[in-house]
Order: sequence, then structure tokens, then C-alpha cells
Amino acid sequence: MIEIAGLTKSCGSTRVLDGIDLRVESARIAAVVGPSGAGKSTLARTINLLERPTSGSIVVNGRDLTALQGRELRTARREIGTVFQQANLLRRLTAAQNVALPLRHHGLPEAEIRRRVYELLERVDLLNRASHYPSQLSGGQRQRIAIARGLALRPSVLLSDEATAGLDPDTTASILALLRELRDELQVTILVITHEMDVVRGIADVVARLDRGRIVEQGPVAEVVRRS
Ligand code: ADP
Ligand code: ADP
Repeated sequence: MIEIAGLTKSCGSTRVLDGIDLRVESARIAAVVGPSGAGKSTLARTINLLERPTSGSIVVNGRDLTALQGRELRTARREIGTVFQQANLLRRLTAAQNVALPLRHHGLPEAEIRRRVYELLERVDLLNRASHYPSQLSGGQRQRIAIARGLALRPSVLLSDEATAGLDPDTTASILALLRELRDELQVTILVITHEMDVVRGIADVVARLDRGRIVEQGPVAEVVRRS
């Protein structure tokens, strides 16, 4: 479960995020949808702890991650896996090496890395592409590898930051189906940040609408979509 409360981010005199409250229950899929400039990328970078909020809290499994420093912060980052727009894979590394990267970074033993990479590639159905470089993969395959990498450290929350932007509708649908499947199998909580209402309809249980740094509406997808 992730619970965001009173999250504010000021840049100079601008309030990019202005008192965000958002709670996602375990193994649920929530979406944050909003137009360009609403604050989505800032929210994503704050949730995955790349940026510090000006105030507010992000509580995962009962612990406020925004209050941590140093080694504790590094460890806490494992709780949140991120899938970025356009996958963001390192192009000089193979698919398997990309998935292994966070595991290496956190110093897991080689045998454990090997086991997890195998298991993750199998889960996203790309074992047969383990030794391919990103340039040899399709956009959808790259995104599946990015999902595997995002799950490598067994996070309790998977954050998808515009992960399907730029993919065609069929590929988008298959990525959303994979995320739902992973939620069911791993009981991971998923937070999808997107500018596309179709993505929200395709995957989310609940949705929050972000506009100019504020959540202006939230609730079950069927209700919010009907009013939009
Ligand atoms: P989105 O991802 O929804 O397009 P962003 O999070 O990129 O929105 O930005 C939200 C608003 O905050 C935009 O108006 C942007 O110009 C502004 N903004 C983002 N980061 C900064 C910053 N570091 N300094 C000043 N303004 C910023
Ligand atoms: P390196 O030369 O850095 O070990 P590899 O490509 O051999 O790079 O492997 C990166 C990681 O991915 C290693 O942990 C390896 O065990 C794992 N790995 C490589 N190929 C496969 C594969 N086909 N199936 C499962 N895991 C693999």
C-alpha cells in the first residue's frame, strides 16, 4: 500500500504540486491522469524518490520514505520500481544485463542475480531475447524489459511513468494486460501516471485527475470516466 499525504513541491514561487493526497491499497492499480503541465512528471520523480518534496509524506508499508537519508534512503528506493517513458534502457547492455542492473547496483550475489533475471525474463515472456540489445527489440519488447527491470528488486509499488506513451494501440493494450497479470501474480501495487484516458480505462481500478498541481477529482474509474 502507498499513501501520499499533503505532498507539495515548490520550485521558486511556483507550486508544481499542491497538497496531493492519494492512497492506493495493496495490489490495486491506480492511475493519475492529467494534461501536459499538470505536474505528472514531478509527481513521478517525487514518488520514486529522485526528488524531495517541499512538504508532505509518502508512506509505503507504514514508513515515510521522504524522511530518510543516506543508506536508509537507498534501501527504501527498492520499495518503488519505476518503468519510464520509452523504457530508458542502457543501449550498450543486453536485455538480461539491463534487468540485472538494479540487482548489481544493490550488490546481490551473482547466483541470485542469475536466478532473478531468468525468472523475470520468463515472466515478461522474453527469455528468448535475453542477449539482444535494445536496438534489436521492438518498442513493446523494450517496455517489457523495462517492466522486468522495474520489478527486479521486488518493490511493493511499481510506478509507470507514461510507460505506454508512443506505443501503438495494440502494443499499449498488451503492456497494460501484462501489468494486470503481474499485479495478480505478484500482488504488487501499481501506480500508472499518464496523459491518456484510454490507458486509464484499459487498466486502472481507481483514478485521480491531476490539474495544475492539484487532484481535482478521484474515484473508481467507471465514475470518473463517465463524468469526463
Ligand atoms: P507534466 O509532466 O504533467 O507535463 P511537469 O511535472 O513536467 O508536468 O510540470 C508541471 C509544471 O511545473 C509545469 O508548468 C512546469 O513548467 C513546472 N515545473 C516543473 N519543474 C519545474 C522546476 N524545476 N522549476 C519551475 N517550474 C517547474
Ligand atoms: P555479464 O557478462 O555482465 O555477466 P550477461 O549477459 O552474461 O552479462 O548476464 C547479465 C545477467 O543476466 C547475469 O546475471 C546473467 O546470469 C543473466 N542472464 C544472461 N543471459 C540470461 C538468460 N538467457 N537467461 C537468464 N538470465 C540470463
